[in-house]
Amino acid sequence: MKLLSVTSECVPLVKTGGLADVAGALPEALKAEGIAVRTLLPGYRAVMAAVGKAKPVLDLPDCGGAPARVLAVKHAGLDLLILDAPHLFDRGAGIYLDETGKDWPDNIERFAALSRVAADIAKGDLKDWVPDVVHCHDWQAGLAPYFMKLDGAKAYSVMTIHNIAFQGIAPAQKRGALGIAPKDFIPGGVEYFGNISTLKAGLMFADALTTVSPTYAEELMTPEFGMGLDGVIKHRKDVLTGILNGIDQTVWSPETDPHISTYKTPRGKAANKAALQDEFGLPVSDGPLCVVVSRLTEQKGLDLLLEALPTLLARGGQLALLGSGDPALEKAFQSVDNPNVSVRIGYDEPLSHRMIAGGDAILVPSRFEPCGLTQLYGLRYGTLPLVALTGGLADTVIAATPASMAREVATGVQFSPVTALSLSNALSKLCDLYAQPRLWAKLQRNAMKQPVGWDSSAKAYADLYRGLAEGT
Ligand code: ADP
Repeated sequence: MKLLSVTSECVPLVKTGGLADVAGALPEALKAEGIAVRTLLPGYRAVMAAVGKAKPVLDLPDCGGAPARVLAVKHAGLDLLILDAPHLFDRGAGIYLDETGKDWPDNIERFAALSRVAADIAKGDLKDWVPDVVHCHDWQAGLAPYFMKLDGAKAYSVMTIHNIAFQGIAPAQKRGALGIAPKDFIPGGVEYFGNISTLKAGLMFADALTTVSPTYAEELMTPEFGMGLDGVIKHRKDVLTGILNGIDQTVWSPETDPHISTYKTPRGKAANKAALQDEFGLPVSDGPLCVVVSRLTEQKGLDLLLEALPTLLARGGQLALLGSGDPALEKAFQSVDNPNVSVRIGYDEPLSHRMIAGGDAILVPSRFEPCGLTQLYGLRYGTLPLVALTGGLADTVIAATPASMAREVATGVQFSPVTALSLSNALSKLCDLYAQPRLWAKLQRNAMKQPVGWDSSAKAYADLYRGLAEGT
């Protein structure tokens, strides 16, 4: 089976969030299922520089207003098709944001062009390679299933929602320029409260929908989490599946992690913790060292952590945080004046490994979390997750209760509702558990045994693709 994956981010080339990890790891995991994946990715400046020489395989005389090409190249185990469209993607600053932190004004046009090319490939324009299934990720690829239907492409389409907060909204006036037929600018098509939504296009026209955890799939059908699209999701719930993300264990395994010095023995955690305390300028202490590696946005609930922090500190706990995003949150964390709190603003992959390895616990107090990856890293490294009871966090962490501890399956702490008070209580509970070293070690062992790789999820995707292709 041949699969075209359409994505705006892909590890190790370009990443702003978990989508990149999934797009980067899934192709390798699908190989074992007999599925050959080619990944269509924008030719951002950094991508073009990283891949070097690539072979032109398709000329596009008019790709969003100027000529462009599709290039083929193998890189880091990925079979890439790169949309080399300098007028759209050869830019400094961010992949979505300009130098001032604002969305590029032509973001919709840039990713509509990517979706248009995906549909061309689905239709057979590459001649020697025609995909059976096109897997579209998030709003950036949302128009692809629509264009495929418009063109009568034979390939099936799958649309995955990694985060419904990003919906690809554009004013109605762009309809013609984006290639959307007047007949489809209707509530049963791509129209969304008077605008265009590229994500809605994907949700309406794809043959199958997935999201990245079973709980998020349920949540998406409620007004609280559906963010205006809950009605659309409910309408298509028969084709929706929740499939958990896995982590790439060639990158995230304590036994082989090149970013940490030692993890080969149970004492490895202690050595990594000491190194991390030293790196963050934190004193040696008896309490749990809690880490956060996150975008700093409203979604992640870290404002609640600021409120609940006194509880952790009063119990002798410490916080090391790495993140960037909302300037007000960055400032608020930087202004916490306490020797047991240390903050790094920025994006730093190697440091994130040292933090996951050296922390006792990882905090993920998200208001919503489609899947979440850092709690999975935490499980793998025996860094117990303390998480909000939502989305993928609810599906991957087993709360420590008398019953789950007796069954030896507990792996962390959960809290609900997602409020500062409830987080504060959860932090207290974490400190109680940490104060019982034998119990804590048991929880760590349970956590490290939990399967967090791609095997079962890759199989679920493979079954879904095959089901579509075989009409079952
Ligand atoms: P989201 O996609 O909503 O940001 P996920 O938990 O699914 O959340 O994925 C976030 C990914 O980005 C993880 O791999 C995490 O380690 C990484 N990450 C987030 N912020 C940083 C940072 N400041 N430095 C390094 N890695 C980060």
